[in-house]
This record gives sequence, C-alpha cells and structure tokens, in this order.
Amino acid sequence: MNVEKVVTRNWGKPGQNTLAGYKQHGGYESLKKALELAPEAVLAEVKKSNLRGRGGAGFPTGLKWSFVPKDNPKPRYLAINADESEPGTAKDRFILENDPHSLLEGIAIACWALGAHTCYIYARGEFKYPSAVLDKAIAEATAAGIFGKKLLGRDFELNVYQVRGAGAYICGEETAMLESLEGKKGWPRLKPPFPAVSGLFGCPTVVNNVETIATLPAIFEKGAEWFAKLGTDKSGGTRLVTLSGVCNRPGTYEVSMQTTLKDLIFDEQFGQGMPHGRTVKAVIPGGSSAPVLTADEMGVALEFEAFKPLNSMAGSGGIIVMDDTCCMVRCLWRVTRFYAEESCGQCTPCREGMPWMTRLLRKIEEGRGEPKDLEALMQVATSIAPWPPIGLGNTICALGDAGALPVQSFVTKFKSEFEQHIAEHRCPYGDKPWGAFGEFQ
Ligand code: SF4
Repeated sequence: MNVEKVVTRNWGKPGQNTLAGYKQHGGYESLKKALELAPEAVLAEVKKSNLRGRGGAGFPTGLKWSFVPKDNPKPRYLAINADESEPGTAKDRFILENDPHSLLEGIAIACWALGAHTCYIYARGEFKYPSAVLDKAIAEATAAGIFGKKLLGRDFELNVYQVRGAGAYICGEETAMLESLEGKKGWPRLKPPFPAVSGLFGCPTVVNNVETIATLPAIFEKGAEWFAKLGTDKSGGTRLVTLSGVCNRPGTYEVSMQTTLKDLIFDEQFGQGMPHGRTVKAVIPGGSSAPVLTADEMGVALEFEAFKPLNSMAGSGGIIVMDDTCCMVRCLWRVTRFYAEESCGQCTPCREGMPWMTRLLRKIEEGRGEPKDLEALMQVATSIAPWPPIGLGNTICALGDAGALPVQSFVTKFKSEFEQHIAEHRCPYGDKPWGAFGEFQ
C-alpha cells in the first residue's frame, strides 16, 4: 500500500523544526505563491482541494472560511486549536515537534485569505516540549520578517501568539477555547452565533485544527487538484491517525483516505497485526468519543463519510484496538469516567448523566448489576444524545454527545457481555490487566 505523504513528508529530515532546515526543503515558497493570489483566489483553491477539518468534525475548510462575513468592520481572527486532548489521539503534537513551520506557513496563508492580522495558537497545557519548539519557531519567523508589520514584505501585518491551556479537556471545544483565550473560565457558548460571525472578543473568528492548517503549504506547493485527487470525492488528501491499544506497532501514521481500519491494524507499514495470536474484538475509530465498531466492521475506509452508515465517526483519528481479553464493561466504565470528570457542568443532562452512567457501569462491573441497570444506562445516555447519532445536540456542546455515544454503542454492540456480568454477578474477565485502557486507578 503506497501512501503519498503530505503532512509528514519532511518529518525526520535534519533541522526540519528550525527555520533554516524548513527553508532547505522549500519552506515558505508556498506562502510566496499564495501571496501572488488575491485572498478570494486562495479561498477558492482551498475549496477546490476538498480539505476537511482534521480536528474531529471533518467540516470542509474552505466552506468554513467562507462563513466569515465580508461586511463586518471588526477585526478578524484565526484561532488554531492545538488543545489535542481526545483520548487516543496524538498527532498534532508531532506536527508541532517535527515541523512547526508548516503550521506557521499555513497560518500565514490562511490569514491572508481571511484578512486576519492576528492568530492565536491555543496549545494543550501539557504540551511542554511541543510548545517550546513552537515558541522557538514563532520567534524565528518573526525575527526573519515573515511575521510582524509586513508579511514577507507585503503591506499586511500578521502577529502570531501561542497561548497555553491549563489542562482542561473542555477547552478543546471551540467556543470554550475562545472563552479561555479571552481569559475566562473555559465554558462552551451557546451557538448560534457561530465563531465565524461572533468569536474571539465578539469578532469574526475562524477556528481550525493544527493538522488542517499544516496541510496548506503542501496544497499550495503541488496544487489543489493534486491534493483533491489523493483522497475521495468528498475528502481531499491524506490524514494522520493514531493507532493505540492492542497491536504490535502502535504509532502515529499518515494514511490515505482509502486505507481501511483492517489495513491500519494489520499492514506491515502500520500496526503489524495483533500480539500473541490475539484477535480483534472491537475498535474505537476516532478518539474515545467515537462509537465503537466490531471486528466485522474493520473493512471501513478511514474517510470521513465512510463511518456514517456504521453510526460512527472518523473524529480526531484516535484509533484504539481492543482484543479478546478486554472487558467491554470495564473499558466503557473507564471512558465514561473520563467524560464525567471533564464535564464543565453547565447542562444538567451532561453534568448529572455522566456520573450516573459511571456509577451504573461500576455497579455492573463489580457484579452488583441488575437487568434494569442496562435499561437505565441507555435511558440516561439517550437523554443526553439520540441514538442512532442523528441530529445530535441536546446539550450546549458536543461533550454531552461524546460521553453518551460510547455508552450507547458499547451496550448496543456488546450487549451480551453486559448481560453476562449481570447474570453471573461478576466480571467474566476477572482481574486481568486492562488491555487497551491501561490500569485503573
Ligand atoms: Fe458543559 Fe457538558 Fe454542557 Fe458541554 S455538554 S457545556 S461539557 S455540561
């Protein structure tokens, strides 16, 4: 399987995370090309490339940019979401570490297209090393006159700042991130208005993920058509995914949109199969909030649209493999506890429902479950988000959905395992290690 590399094409080359090294491999030449175009033409190229957001929702990037009102006299902002916190996902941090100037060049291209003179990069609080590399890259680009009063000598001011979060998962939600950037508590906002209309400081703001923007230099280097052709009809290019859990070679890989989950787990250049002759029982395909898939569903391509018929999502590309030694009740309990702890508490269904589901799962796992608990579990989850996941959004933000969908999908697809726990008043997997989910504390 031959995957043409886009985002990772220069990773590992000497000095790639410095300005000098980046320039040696054609760095900032794409920005020069983009600056030859009118902002509208840059936007048209991004639309033509079929680039979709890599943060989780997979929304078409060019379309998102086009929502910024042209007649609003307020300043415009670009905000980069580098608050990568979805369990199972580790890709943006490697862009910051290995190729920070690809993000910065992408930011300059995007800001030119949007007419934005300020960009904030909101980095996860725990990103100590990636943030240090990024800070250095911003300083280098500013000292070299790429950023500052004149963008590459053009009469266009652009300033880029990195802001570190304080470790709250909810601040990865775009409006919570904007609140946090404004110096407030990271509470998601009601939408509408959407950030493109009223975002940071009440001004039009585009929020994009790190990988999305770091892809732009390659698009302007080789052309939007080239990029679009690498993917499928609706999703251009390649994407980064993180493979974790039970497999021989977990890691972060760039894959084509045609690569299937099965390819990713078993192919020699990716996961290299399962250890000790174990078999795949389940796969979470897009970060822990994405509805779980069974082993029979591993033929799905890692493309945004392909997951819809399976009631799941490509999400942030965090792929977690569970083998036949993993207890699904215990795994779900672990996932649900995470969302219960990270709920900001603004909406009653999320604030009360997440801990309630956690308690029910603990009860079932510890052998104290009753048949009515399974029913209650589904009822609580469905009061937070509908199942199947059509028309989500009973709560202010998607964290509610993120906590409910795993419960609904685990219970629907692995119901017999939950029933066995209840019928036998014990966990059939005993005290075995936690497999894909590590030790419980
Ligand atoms: Fe907060 Fe949960 Fe409501 Fe999101 S869904 S705003 S995390 S309470």
